[in-house]
Amino acid sequence: MLDLALLGSGGSMPMPDRFLSSLLIRYNGRKILIDCGEGTQVAMRILKWGFKSIDIICITHKHGDHILGLPGLLATIGNSGRTEPILIIGPNGIAKIIEGLILSLSYLPYDIKLMEVSNSSTRVNFFQEGVEIEEVYNNYSSNGDLIISTLELDHSAPCIGYSLYIPRSPKFNPEKATYYNIPKNLWKNLQRGETVTYEGNIIEPHMVLEGSRKGIKLSYITDTRPIRAIPDFIKESDLFICEGTYGDSEDIGKAIENKHMTFSEAAQLAYEGKVRELLLTHFSPAMEEPQGYIENAAKIFPNTIIGCDGYIKTLTYS
Ligand SMILES: [Zn+2]
Ligand SMILES: [Zn+2]
Repeated sequence: MLDLALLGSGGSMPMPDRFLSSLLIRYNGRKILIDCGEGTQVAMRILKWGFKSIDIICITHKHGDHILGLPGLLATIGNSGRTEPILIIGPNGIAKIIEGLILSLSYLPYDIKLMEVSNSSTRVNFFQEGVEIEEVYNNYSSNGDLIISTLELDHSAPCIGYSLYIPRSPKFNPEKATYYNIPKNLWKNLQRGETVTYEGNIIEPHMVLEGSRKGIKLSYITDTRPIRAIPDFIKESDLFICEGTYGDSEDIGKAIENKHMTFSEAAQLAYEGKVRELLLTHFSPAMEEPQGYIENAAKIFPNTIIGCDGYIKTLTYS
């Protein structure tokens, strides 16, 4: 089970009634933040999910509406008593920029690990002391707590999209476990994919597990033009969060010029990616009522939600 909160739904600059695009994810008591524009910590304070357990911050790109909230937030996390390191992921070139932003802070009681990626998949395991990561090559591996994949996008600065995948272990077959005389206290270990030894016999998980089951997939794509690689990258997401900077399809010229998308372009990606639900965000400050343009997306992809600040959702295994 994964909870998410859209902290803000605006692009470009924070407005009195609209914070900048940022997403907070809560999973197994740990948290991941995607993007951190100016004011993100205020939206987090309103949400009341706390600051201390943020283990990973994913940054899409260097533009201020996605990154300028970082120094203040990192200081607030420090004030919350955190001492475990925080991992910050971003596109190539982001480390230097973040190091510069951090210079404004006099002291942080924890370390920051910076990781620059382009197209990659990283397996994350959560521990009491923080997180452990390793590069993986198969998105649907059943091991690990969480797989974070990234995709290079097409924006006016190096930018990456994210997909988070929580694998689900294959179904456990109790009849097979009984057949092999495996005591019930070891069933959980096998279910987790661990090999167990019982009375000198080595029992492998595949002996009692069968079939693969789809996990939970969440995708986050902003800021970019639609590119051919996106539908495959977001394929069958339970929720696809996508920028819809312009609601009016007549703004396509501005979308092309500024390297953003219209609602209908985002909906087309959702349709091609066969996702379950589309959540639009990153609205232009010039668009006062994004809801008024929903038809431009819904006629292409009916299961569309217009994001708003504080929107909360829980994703579960289907
Ligand atoms: Zn932006
Ligand atoms: Zn941008």
